Amino acid sequence: MPHTTTVMKAVTFHHHGGVDQLRVDRVPIPEVGRGEVLVRVKACALNHLDLWIRHGIPAYRIALPHISGCDIAGVIEQVGDDEGRSSDEWAPGQAVIISPGLSCWSCPWCLAGKDNLCPSFKILGAQVHGGYAEFVSVPRINVLPIPPALTFEQAAAFPLVSVTAWHMVRTLANLQPTETVLVMGAGSGVGSMAIQLANMIGARVLGTVGTEEKIARAKELGANEVINHQTDDVGRKTRDLTSGRGVDVVIEHIGQRVWDGCFKALAKGVHLVTCGATTGGEITLDARSLFSRQLTVMGSYMGTRTELLQVCTMIERGTIHPIVDRVFPLEEARAAQDYLLSRKAFGKVVLTVDGKDR
Ligand SMILES: [Zn+2]
Repeated sequence: MPHTTTVMKAVTFHHHGGVDQLRVDRVPIPEVGRGEVLVRVKACALNHLDLWIRHGIPAYRIALPHISGCDIAGVIEQVGDDEGRSSDEWAPGQAVIISPGLSCWSCPWCLAGKDNLCPSFKILGAQVHGGYAEFVSVPRINVLPIPPALTFEQAAAFPLVSVTAWHMVRTLANLQPTETVLVMGAGSGVGSMAIQLANMIGARVLGTVGTEEKIARAKELGANEVINHQTDDVGRKTRDLTSGRGVDVVIEHIGQRVWDGCFKALAKGVHLVTCGATTGGEITLDARSLFSRQLTVMGSYMGTRTELLQVCTMIERGTIHPIVDRVFPLEEARAAQDYLLSRKAFGKVVLTVDGKDR
């Protein structure tokens, strides 16, 4: 049924701070601009980015109040006008996912297919309102068909982390079947995807976890060996598992607490790719070690729309799977963020908006 009111339920924060800043609000349903689509949100996955933005960091100067939520699955509610043309591609009632990267599609980077390098690149739910709400309005190009076999909750659980992991594993590290990769935080959203993707490529996969309970899950997902990064010396353990040589690629997003171990785990002439710093961003890097061991440290930020389409194909074929740990109702966003912060989750934490699935 089309919406008949002009207000919607949303979880907002009016001030930066702790989880207690989140509140269930009534806010206007977003306008559907030219070339945009209004989506009725069914499920929205959490990301650590939600916590950073709620807390407030200089890299994300946003207007308040704000609605978080980067990963959205839902149903098209309304299709906006597009310079006099109506869409023959999308119609109300279609189930969709939303690509979380927003870019201009006219600059040299976008035209070259490297839209995550666009000068105006934004992430849905970060610099603009996201999916902790009943509705969200997005550019039509960001709407993609939902992979058929997935529930809304599963569909919300994969876009951001899978495109991030694929960009790191394939595009930046160019991981090969003959290589060994160390994936930090196998139970995280990015880690659980990186393990599956590395496994698909045929590489030997070493994964790390923060608790003993997650070891079996990481192995089920495709890790050949699992290291506890809380209790083990990651560098030494990795070298033990690789006959002293070290790994060809490290996929990293934990930051400060594990950085030295990751660096020690690298073989000569190889890559460390990082996309996050959940334990803090202050790291030390010895230039002598960097050049004498001929190492490359690569920064990675999301991925491209094309890479997301590639991941969608893998999901449709059942090559990789979204990993949903726990689902909370939208109204319990505080509890959901607390749970994500507790690091107990293996896979994604998802908010469900009206409680009904496909
Ligand atoms: Zn651009």
